Amino acid sequence: MAMPRLDIDLNKIYHNADELVKRLAERGILVTGVTKASLGSIEVANALLQAGVVSLGDSRIENIKAMRMSGSDACMMLIRSPMLSQVRQVVKYVNISCNTEVAVIKALSVEACKQGCTHQILLMVELGDLREGIMPNDLINTVREVIGLPNILLKGIGTNLACRSGVSPNEKNMSKLSELAEQVEKTFGITLDIVSGGNSANIQWASKTDTQRINHLRLGESILLGCEPLQRQPIEGLHGDAFTLVAEVIESKLKPSKPTADVAQTAFGEVSLLTGQAANDRGMVKQSILAIGLQDIDYTGLQAPKGIVIMGASSDHLIVESIDDALKIGDEVSFQLNYSALLRAMTSPFVTKCYYPV
Ligand SMILES: *Cc1c(COP(=O)(O)O)cnc(C)c1O
Repeated sequence: MAMPRLDIDLNKIYHNADELVKRLAERGILVTGVTKASLGSIEVANALLQAGVVSLGDSRIENIKAMRMSGSDACMMLIRSPMLSQVRQVVKYVNISCNTEVAVIKALSVEACKQGCTHQILLMVELGDLREGIMPNDLINTVREVIGLPNILLKGIGTNLACRSGVSPNEKNMSKLSELAEQVEKTFGITLDIVSGGNSANIQWASKTDTQRINHLRLGESILLGCEPLQRQPIEGLHGDAFTLVAEVIESKLKPSKPTADVAQTAFGEVSLLTGQAANDRGMVKQSILAIGLQDIDYTGLQAPKGIVIMGASSDHLIVESIDDALKIGDEVSFQLNYSALLRAMTSPFVTKCYYPV
């Protein structure tokens, strides 16, 4: 088997998506399946579509293009504001993009006219997390500027929380979004099809609060990893182990637990873990090196199997200690991943992706 590799259980991803789509449908909420952590994988995309997501969402035009090139005719949503330099591709490959800048929407309009199609937009509103979004007080004026643009269809509004600042979705900010939707509809005499309340961080809110006008969420982490991102608690009934990272042992030796001589910065400018709490001399330890590194994973987001402790990493080496039996050369060690480790592993060309069932 190829090493290192990411084993991807499509049945588990399907199950997670299917459960969330069903549970949210009961609250009147449709789901866009977010694929940005899976690098435009058509296998993952198809599992999400089979489970009933209404569209696929990705932050990168390259991933959306890759899914199109693999033959997907699904509705594609670009969930990061388009670059002005990419509007041609955005209009070509994307059905609906999330926007906050009139200049970009005007360029999308010009390009959509050229390509002879309609481009749909969501206007994203800032509700406290301070990442993307039009300030609420500017929303009506922004709508006024874009609503008459040729070949642009204002499909709805949305917001994104819990990303930059960890601001949680709650009754207050979600009510505000509902109010804004109604204000836009009343002012312009239109109907907004989509009021998109947020991402996986909205799941708890959606399960217990009146969802009002919000009828759409964009879900990535909760589907792929089966957990909610506010406290990183597992979601009941979902699989948390759809992805497994497997790496191979290339060195296994008894070594001192403490580095020899003076310790300066590591290759990556960090102060070594070994100078912190692990600085105590614990005598000789069973240290192994796995052939994977910072190019491929965020090692702080890996969960090692029982009996193995992750001690550090450099570009190409992951250092672990065995508590009981020493690892042998050629042994395979399996890890669970958090979102950040998954993102990097999916993006690394050195990590082979193995899909099951094949
Ligand atoms: C990443 C992202 C999502 C999905 O977030 P998850 O926490 O993975 O569900 C949704 N919307 C936007 C705008 C995003 O950037």
